[in-house]
Amino acid sequence: MAARMPLPTDFRTYRGRLAPSPTGWLHLGHARTFWLAQERAAAAGGALILRSDDLDGARCRAEFSAGMLEDLRWLGLRWSEGPDCGGRHAPYVQSARLAEYRAAFAKLRALGAVYPCDCSRQDVLRALGAPHAGEEEPVYPGTCRGKGEGRRAKGEINWRFRVPDGEVISFTDCALGPHAEMAGREFGDFLVWRKDGFPSYQLACVVDDAAMGITEVVRGADLLTSTCRQLLLYRALGLAAPAFHHAPLMTDVNGLRLAKRDGATSLRGLRAAGATPEEVRARF
Ligand code: GLU
Repeated sequence: MAARMPLPTDFRTYRGRLAPSPTGWLHLGHARTFWLAQERAAAAGGALILRSDDLDGARCRAEFSAGMLEDLRWLGLRWSEGPDCGGRHAPYVQSARLAEYRAAFAKLRALGAVYPCDCSRQDVLRALGAPHAGEEEPVYPGTCRGKGEGRRAKGEINWRFRVPDGEVISFTDCALGPHAEMAGREFGDFLVWRKDGFPSYQLACVVDDAAMGITEVVRGADLLTSTCRQLLLYRALGLAAPAFHHAPLMTDVNGLRLAKRDGATSLRGLRAAGATPEEVRARF
């Protein structure tokens, strides 16, 4: 019998995740990225975790929460931890994890890494001389930086992370290779806590990916800039960042990104039209 090689001391089992938001029906683009995540987890002999990113109270619906799990299972995706099957990092639903986000936010406040901001999105766009919002979050011009914490002792207010202007944030993407963006130029001070009492996507994502021991995040290339923001949060919170694999976005015949509101490419719509999981996967 061959001698067993000792495992390297930094050995960590691959843990990937699917993090859909129940804000609409999942489409082919989500399905393709999730399928890739499953393949990467399987190739590494690792685990796949499903987390429901349901913090957008205005847009999330119970119907979509149940529907997305059902559609993903129908397609052939399988996970070993999730809202439907539990696991040692439960709960796998972001709306049930608020205490974790509050603790991380308190840490950022104690570090002086965040500041309160009462600018509306319109204020930001006006200050930038850009009345029309683009797809990417506008670079915050720093209007409320340095105004101090005491301004709004009571009442709710948004909180932003102060990015290190001029620092180049870089990482090696598993799919795209080296990627670098300059803080303060490609992205600015971003929201970490919203005045409605909920964390931003950036904070919740970092807190959960770290708490759930995720070793590689597979997601769409539209989140490359968010990865740079999130790397700053990992650093500030003293958490180890996972590896990242950004997948190309799927477009329609007109070259436009697929959207949840477009029924033609939703898994729900394709199923209703009689497509089989194999036919759907053949379109990836
Ligand atoms: N729930 C987020 C989304 O659907 C997850 C993004 C991510 O993978 O980090 O966009």
